[in-house]
Amino acid sequence: MKDKPDLEANQAVCFNCKKVLTSKDQYDMVVCSCGAIAIDGGCNLRIIELIENPARTGGLSPSADSGFMIKF
Ligand SMILES: [Zn+2]
Repeated sequence: MKDKPDLEANQAVCFNCKKVLTSKDQYDMVVCSCGAIAIDGGCNLRIIELIENPARTGGLSPSADSGFMIKF
């Protein structure tokens, strides 16, 4: 892990605009003002990516992070 700012358990940083979102409780759903992510769940944080996260896919094919390898 790198570039991980100090966040509370109920916070997440939007990958698109870097805004810190805070979900205050289990049913507090917060959508980032840019519309890229939403979070809810409070301390049982759930992050919902509303648009594709380019940092996570990193230009790799979608199967690249599944751990599946083709053996020849
Ligand atoms: Zn955002």
